Amino acid sequence: MTQMTSRAIRIEQHGGPEELQLVSVVVGEPGPGEIRIRHHAVGLNFIDVYQRSGLYPMNLPQQLGMEAAGVVEAVGEGVTHLQVGDRAAYASQPPGSYCERRVMPAKCVCKLPDAISFETGAAMMLKGLTAQYLLKRTLPQGGLQPGDFVLFHAAAGGVGLIACQWAKALGLRLIGTAGSDEKCALALANGAEFAINYSKEDFLAKVKEITAGQGVKVVYDSVGKDTWDKSLDCLAPFGLMASFGNASGPVAPFAPGILGPKGSIYVTRQTLFTHIATRESTQAMADDLFAVVSSGQVKIHIAQRYPLEDVQQAHRDLEARKTTGCTVLTL
Ligand code: NDP
Repeated sequence: MTQMTSRAIRIEQHGGPEELQLVSVVVGEPGPGEIRIRHHAVGLNFIDVYQRSGLYPMNLPQQLGMEAAGVVEAVGEGVTHLQVGDRAAYASQPPGSYCERRVMPAKCVCKLPDAISFETGAAMMLKGLTAQYLLKRTLPQGGLQPGDFVLFHAAAGGVGLIACQWAKALGLRLIGTAGSDEKCALALANGAEFAINYSKEDFLAKVKEITAGQGVKVVYDSVGKDTWDKSLDCLAPFGLMASFGNASGPVAPFAPGILGPKGSIYVTRQTLFTHIATRESTQAMADDLFAVVSSGQVKIHIAQRYPLEDVQQAHRDLEARKTTGCTVLTL
């Protein structure tokens, strides 16, 4: 019997984009709780960079990628929510989506509505579920109300453009930051009420000006090292610092004592994988995402496409801040 194989991108050791190597891997049959999926498109995420570089260490060798969409080819014992032939999409651990087909846990895989294309599904699951939990499950004291100010860093990126649109749909007044005037224009066109080019403007001073000195209820910070200190000072009393990434490098350790004089502010560090730990929460969050995308309230901007074998270039461009919106690897 011939073995089923797949092209895949794997790293043997942590390092730069050159560590991403195209290999051929054998793909077996799904075990209990697993499916085999044939991908139609794969999503690129900044977390892939952390995993490649070793900022988030992994057992090696390791196939990379956390997001994709395709068709279910085989279903293991005990899987009831998916059938062979279903269109499906996912954000998942463990990594391994940079490939044509794979066997993986079924728990995190959701049926993809017919109205949503494979490319859109592949681009939006990890980023869209992240925007969902940030805006709806990571809340300051008293929750978020229409009219509240929030600050969202890297607003023209993959998670950022989704969050801009979703926040607007929720009635929030989102102040976005981005690294160029073009990116600021993109954030504004997608629902940000204000945009600050933080490569040339002092975002703290601008936030104070926009909010008449009051500050914002939540800062969503995925930039990390470069934005951390000033972000804390952007918060209103009892505001929430929602840290969720480190694109500029990890945040240095800090003493909790600094939070009191800044207005008894709260700090949290969130990860999507806590929110999608169960099938039920994954499906509920995905349904919410599917609804805003299907209704057109949130449009998924796929601004870059690279063939799977050009993944090194995709990583270079993402790290060099050359991308906007979402990036898809094509098969
Ligand atoms: P993006 O498309 O947003 O790309 C990252 C952006 O960060 C860049 O485009 C850039 O925008 C900005 N940035 C600021 N400083 C740097 C720097 N020194 N080097 C590189 N980029 C920088 O990526 P994603 O949408 O995939 O992810 C956004 C962030 O959210 C990432 O940090 C990611 O790790 C995090 N994330 C966290 C999750 C969680 O659950 N914790 C889940 C999903 C994503 P600009 O030029 O405008 O500054």
